[in-house]
Amino acid sequence: MNVEILWSNLLSQIKDELTSLSYNTWFADTELYKLDNGKAYIVVPMPIHKKHLIDNYAELISNKLSEITGAPYELNLLLKEEIETEIKEKEESKDNIIIEERVVTNNYNVNSNLNKKYVFDNFIVGNSNKFAHAAALSVAENPGNMYNPLFLYGNSGLGKTHLMHAIGNFIVENSNKKVLYVTSEQFRQDFVKANRKDDKGTNFNYIDFFKNKYRNIDVLIIDDIQFLGGASQSQQEFFHTFNNLYNDSKQIIVSSDRSPEDLKQLEDRLRTRFCWGLTVNIFPPEFTLRTEILKKKIIAGNFEQDIPDEVVEYIASNIGPDVRQLEGSVTRLVAYSAIMGGEKITLDLAIEALKDFISKGIGEKNDVHRIQKMVSEYFQISVEDIRSKKRSSNISFPRQIAMYLCRTLTNESFPKIGTEFGGKDHSTVMHSVEKIENEIKVNKDLANIIEKLKKDIGIV
Ligand code: ADP
Ligand code: MG
Repeated sequence: MNVEILWSNLLSQIKDELTSLSYNTWFADTELYKLDNGKAYIVVPMPIHKKHLIDNYAELISNKLSEITGAPYELNLLLKEEIETEIKEKEESKDNIIIEERVVTNNYNVNSNLNKKYVFDNFIVGNSNKFAHAAALSVAENPGNMYNPLFLYGNSGLGKTHLMHAIGNFIVENSNKKVLYVTSEQFRQDFVKANRKDDKGTNFNYIDFFKNKYRNIDVLIIDDIQFLGGASQSQQEFFHTFNNLYNDSKQIIVSSDRSPEDLKQLEDRLRTRFCWGLTVNIFPPEFTLRTEILKKKIIAGNFEQDIPDEVVEYIASNIGPDVRQLEGSVTRLVAYSAIMGGEKITLDLAIEALKDFISKGIGEKNDVHRIQKMVSEYFQISVEDIRSKKRSSNISFPRQIAMYLCRTLTNESFPKIGTEFGGKDHSTVMHSVEKIENEIKVNKDLANIIEKLKKDIGIV
């Protein structure tokens, strides 16, 4: 049986036995490389997979393999690079003349370093990034002609790398142009390598390799140019590379965490060149876009249980603007619920799971949630209850206190506070606030509780 069919057969059986989170994390990206001499060589995406699969799933995999093939196999887990080394070593032993050169030549043209995961289709557009998205798309549709260079800048986690890969993938799919994506760090390393002499005191091959890699392309995407830093020789080489490509109308796309003017470590002549084309600032996503990104990620994640809207809103209002953290929080929440034995994802669970992610005092909306959480904890009721319409006094009294604290400690309006407490109207909130205000005057104990809560909440 063909190893691919065998493995997909095995995976589909394993898929039925595991949660989709475990399956997707540990098995989805594995491949069977070969069965040879009683050994099964399995390719895994990252080193962590080796340990985790051996520690947790060795028996399961072995059993399935022998069920399907009728023979026992010893498991050997390998990374892709390790397989490549193995192939190389094999070829070398057959014919050990200039194998190194052959490998290098192959890499010249084939490897664009593009990540297929990042495409326009899964880039979600909102006000903050629509200009960047549009500029990226027009460059993708017309490389070398529209905006050259395209300079994208903005803080970490706002989608620059995603957009750059999307441009590259689009071009590769729709033309036969050669695209190369590198980080400025990769460029620097390649440059250093090109100038290193080999054992025979020559560096001919590497300089050749470098020139070929960086000049023999149609589109150069260089990410995080700020890390090219003060390394001036690499900078000069980049300057030459830039000129060379630019003069040939090859598209150059650059990203940075700051604008060209603020790239103080780079030489002026390079900074001015960055402004020759189009410079686009990508902004932090607004609340609606954060919510939309979260919803799409949840759908794409194909999790076993739904994540309620109020949890999505909680994440969107408390985490951000870094989209990476938004994604991380969903992963963490789902993992947390799985670790807790598949516990249902509720607002309370989310608050618990994400407590280390959510820092204090990021904005007013956070404060409302924090107040709700602190007051619920103090009175030992759940956040869901405090946000609910329940009227029993053990819940409605803490709720009134929480409303009072929201009104006095944050700038939120009565109607806004009402919305945060299960959709109460503004007069209910006003009434609650007044009631607590009056009671504090005559009830020392309550006044003390409120003081303590204020201190714990830490807004004052
Ligand atoms: P940057 O390069 O600006 O630091 P990335 O492109 O690496 O940011 O984005 C971080 C993560 O957030 C990636 O997984 C990316 O797919 C995701 N992301 C960022 N913006 C969006 C968006 N608008 N739509 C979908 N995913 C996004
Ligand atoms: Mg990036």
